[in-house]
Amino acid sequence: MAKKKETTIKVPKEPKKKATSKKKASEKTTKKTAKTKAKPTGVIQPELNLALVGHVDHGKTTLTERFSGKWTDTHSEELKKGITIRLGYADFSIYKCDDCDYYTAKEKCIKCNSETTFLRKISLVDAPGHESLMATMLSGAAIVDGAVLMVAANEKCPQPQTKEHLMALQISGIKNVIIVQNKIDLVNSEEAIKNHQQIKDFLAGTDYKNAPIIPISARANVNIDVLIKAVQEFIPTPERNRDADPVMLVARSFDINKPGISPKDLIGGVLGGTVKQGTFKLNDEIEIVPGYMVEEKNKKVWKPLRTTITKIFSGGVPVDEIHPGGSMAIATTLDPTIVKSDSLTGSLVGISGKLPQIYNQISLSTSLLERVVGIKDEIEVKPLAKGEVLMLNVNSAATVGVVTDPSKKNTTCVLKKPIAANPGDRITISRRVGDRFRLIGYGILK
Ligand code: GDP
Ligand code: ZN
Repeated sequence: MAKKKETTIKVPKEPKKKATSKKKASEKTTKKTAKTKAKPTGVIQPELNLALVGHVDHGKTTLTERFSGKWTDTHSEELKKGITIRLGYADFSIYKCDDCDYYTAKEKCIKCNSETTFLRKISLVDAPGHESLMATMLSGAAIVDGAVLMVAANEKCPQPQTKEHLMALQISGIKNVIIVQNKIDLVNSEEAIKNHQQIKDFLAGTDYKNAPIIPISARANVNIDVLIKAVQEFIPTPERNRDADPVMLVARSFDINKPGISPKDLIGGVLGGTVKQGTFKLNDEIEIVPGYMVEEKNKKVWKPLRTTITKIFSGGVPVDEIHPGGSMAIATTLDPTIVKSDSLTGSLVGISGKLPQIYNQISLSTSLLERVVGIKDEIEVKPLAKGEVLMLNVNSAATVGVVTDPSKKNTTCVLKKPIAANPGDRITISRRVGDRFRLIGYGILK
């Protein structure tokens, strides 16, 4: 309801958007989705992006593997994975046994062995927990529809990144969050209750006071069905408008050709990311903004790129068209050397002339946190200062902005790298505290 109202208010500022036709189109889409759900055929695209966040070692990777089933191959605990440094995607489907009311990520019910009913496919975003990887975590937040925050039951809550990640979700405007109290096998019931209370007290000061708290053991496979049921009930698929002007957020870009490949077999540049809205089809003529950087007269400038979609992949499987939800990749006719090594990360892809604006300078109305989170001794967030250098994240892009006017209602920044965004978009603001950038608030783009 609130969302629809917002769109109506925005219309006068954005003359190109047709509010009424948009509404009708999305209604149509909802009906369509409901139909496919009952009887899935062909390639099923995930319909929800779910982030797994939390302090390092609290069990995100273990739970990801528990859901997506990749665990079975690696029973050697010694295969120390290290820290997840990229937003890694894994898909899983939610099924329900109608006889036992049992929720599972498997096609068979482990209780009665009967076939389960497919409910929906979900794409997991396994965000890194290491403190220096906050930028990656924030880029992930832009594409996330809901989140699971992992808290280890055998440690005091909140740990620094528990708090920092929850604040990041709050600042990114993510509404639906489930708290998982993991490693329940390592504590007795008294300790579990005490830890539950600590979680409650921690949540009391946030937007997530009423978030469900689900005790599990990811390693011992305890209560995973209850967690899956909670995901199904508390994190609904957002209404998607498949007919809106398509926008893809680029998370990665690569040259997939092996060295020494003959020119006739060369595959054009590949972009990976997610569809934010609308539909992309094979052979669509697309534009990429702000595009790639070149030096001109000792100045860095960004050039939009135009190309054609030659292949589309949904979670690695070729498809003819793609909608929001899950990870996707497109192959293009671009020279692969232009896109290699993630050179286009943070760009937006769309149809020429129908893309968000490009900004070299932005004006924001800002909201700052009271305290810097994510460090042991929390310090007060001082107002922004003229000349201050900020890290700004919007959609999947990260840029650096220098404050030219620090006033709260109209903060202006000159950007080191331009961004493509729409008025009303939420931009998260981080400031250098000690040796790294810390999240301090957000601004709404004017
Ligand atoms: P991440 O850093 O959040 O991805 O955490 P990992 O999934 O890598 O887990 C860190 C360590 O905790 C690993 O040794 C896991 O085997 C262990 N672990 C994860 N979940 C549980 C659990 O439920 N119980 C116990 N006892 N250990 C767990
Ligand atoms: Zn059953």
